[in-house]
Amino acid sequence: MFNLILFGPPGSGKGTQSDKLVEKYGLKHLSTGNLLRQEIADKTPLGLEAKSFIDKGQLVPDEVVIGMVDSFFELHKDAKGFLFDGFPRTAAQAVALDKLLDLKETGIAAVLALEVGEEELVKRLLNRGITSGRSDDTNEEVIRKRFAVYSTETSAVAEHYKAAHKFKSIKGEGSVDAIFDSLCAAIDKKMN
Ligand code: ADP
Repeated sequence: MFNLILFGPPGSGKGTQSDKLVEKYGLKHLSTGNLLRQEIADKTPLGLEAKSFIDKGQLVPDEVVIGMVDSFFELHKDAKGFLFDGFPRTAAQAVALDKLLDLKETGIAAVLALEVGEEELVKRLLNRGITSGRSDDTNEEVIRKRFAVYSTETSAVAEHYKAAHKFKSIKGEGSVDAIFDSLCAAIDKKMN
């Protein structure tokens, strides 16, 4: 298996680039944000619980997210690899992911981190909010809260993979195609 993590703050372009990457490399896209929004749309108990956290810009509890990832693996046993987007977001999630992948006798090949300045991120998110209808993207206070959570909780994830020498920063500003090319160049290096 070949597994990648696409890392970066809210609005850094993970979703956009993920769509292109999964198509090119034949990976299964695992976006915990998308899975949570589907649960909310389906009005499941998990979705109801998650919504209260998401609307405040807080993280959904680790055990909820890890359980969801575990179920996703069960559903996609024949995947040739996964592209993780928005997961792991805490040190505990990173440890849990390592364990789950260990059980499959595989691991993470690389963590590619999209780097984008905060003001550009706020602009992108507010713009996305206008068209996407995502409630967490329409309120600047909620957006700033998500950045705060990113720097306090999610930076530990970067440290986890830096220690494992798997972390690579990629410039996330510029055209979608130019960023995609940088990502592909980094991935191709890992594949060969
Ligand atoms: P963004 O990267 O723009 O914040 P996501 O779609 O990845 O968008 O996530 C939206 C929200 O869903 C997050 O703010 C958080 O509340 C919740 N969420 C998504 N993934 C996770 C995760 N791995 N752990 C905890 N909460 C998560």
